[in-house]
Amino acid sequence: MCTAEDGSSVAAPALDKHAPGPAANPDLIADLVIANRILFRESVVDAFGHVSVRHDKDPKRFLLARNMAPALVTEADVIEFGDDGEPVNAAGRAVYLERFIHSEIYRARPDVMSVVHSHSMAVLPFGLVPSVPFRAVTHMGSFIGVCAPVFEIRETAGDDNDLLISNRALGAALAKRLGDQSVCLMRGHGSTVVGNSVKQAVFRAVYTEQNARVLSEASRIGPVVSLTEAETRTATRTIDGQVPRAWNMWRLRAEGKV
Ligand SMILES: [Zn+2]
Repeated sequence: MCTAEDGSSVAAPALDKHAPGPAANPDLIADLVIANRILFRESVVDAFGHVSVRHDKDPKRFLLARNMAPALVTEADVIEFGDDGEPVNAAGRAVYLERFIHSEIYRARPDVMSVVHSHSMAVLPFGLVPSVPFRAVTHMGSFIGVCAPVFEIRETAGDDNDLLISNRALGAALAKRLGDQSVCLMRGHGSTVVGNSVKQAVFRAVYTEQNARVLSEASRIGPVVSLTEAETRTATRTIDGQVPRAWNMWRLRAEGKV
């Protein structure tokens, strides 16, 4: 709902899109590791779910951990991927089945620098009830907008599928459903949140979950007043400036220091 010009006959060497490129900034990789820890500590991910960040020196590539529980990710577990969702330097390590969520959103959205995919519990119900749109009801959740899109995998994969985004076509369909929004629910599966940095994407993933809890609680009390479209835009501009404050606190909490 909701709506060779030298005359030579020697062929040019084929471009290898998976050839090694410039190394990503170590600080970016460190932030990605911290993001994994925060998302676990703040109950956005459990043993499943993942977060990626676009490569800072090659926008066609992105960084994502190998196939493992987010809470256990270290710098050594971060792998580089090409824009087809295939790993550049996996060196035999298993990769996430749903890496195409990330690759196809980066292809479709040049403004997106980070993607969080989770199965967070409070958000899941809103992907199951088409008559109840998932929308911003708190200022911290303003980026959600007045109606987050819901991805129905059957429209692409048919009635017999495993609900997972396990190939490029499904990733592209999800990216299309996301459109220019920040959050896309996935029926019977979870949700995907995007941001202009890994810190913003984490911030939004945490507050997507919180907004869902508040909306569910309020709905039990009575009819819910949601943010207007104008409120979602204005509040998002204000709240975006508060991302570092939350990140710094969540980081310390994930490290057991507060
Ligand atoms: Zn998933």
